[in-house]
Amino acid sequence: MQRRLDFVTSDIARWAELLRPLSPDPATLPRRTPVGQLIKSHISSRTRDGNSIPAYRALGRRFGSAAGIAAASVEEIGAVIAEVTFPEVKAERLKAALGMIAAERPDFDLDFLGHMPVPQAMAWLERLPGVGCEVAAATLNVSRLSCPVFVVDTHTIRILRRLGFAGPTQDARGIMTAVMEALPDWPGDELFRLHLGIKALGQTACPHGPPDCPRCPLAGDCPTAAA
Ligand code: SF4
Repeated sequence: MQRRLDFVTSDIARWAELLRPLSPDPATLPRRTPVGQLIKSHISSRTRDGNSIPAYRALGRRFGSAAGIAAASVEEIGAVIAEVTFPEVKAERLKAALGMIAAERPDFDLDFLGHMPVPQAMAWLERLPGVGCEVAAATLNVSRLSCPVFVVDTHTIRILRRLGFAGPTQDARGIMTAVMEALPDWPGDELFRLHLGIKALGQTACPHGPPDCPRCPLAGDCPTAAA
């Protein structure tokens, strides 16, 4: 088991290095508050950035704050995020999640999560309606908290399966756990950069459709390319 883990660790660390040119340095990026990132990630699932980012900004313009969104009706929220997928469902769950947060943290300040062990912080977030593994991990890692947890989205699942790192039925939580076990000492910014590199690959050479393997920096390691 240890030999396999060492092998996997060196693999994914090498892939991270090869993908670095595709992603910006997280230290140069503006980072949202944890609740801001939770809202952004919540409305982003199965939605392109080109629709989710304008929808997030529209929420800010229309309601002003997380408290403003929590006080709005589901119909009002749904109308503002109409361009994302499943806007009515997301609006209902977002309002419910923000309502639960308000009951415990009326100021919506979630910085305390950054002082908790990652599994406990993930569990705190995953109690909230509509908050699964991906949204919880993004709230902790992509926000200004930069906690050491790896965000698994559809690009990550597809690419790590094609690379043979993840099995065909391994789900997001299983892949997140496998990456964290392979890179146990990596800081949050490095895990975020790996996520950004994989996402960039998914938006270019390795999309949902047929991959363009000759363009891919990971082709030398990839069984899909070899096939
Ligand atoms: S080599 Fe091809 S299948 Fe493998 S990760 Fe790169 S683009 Fe995707």
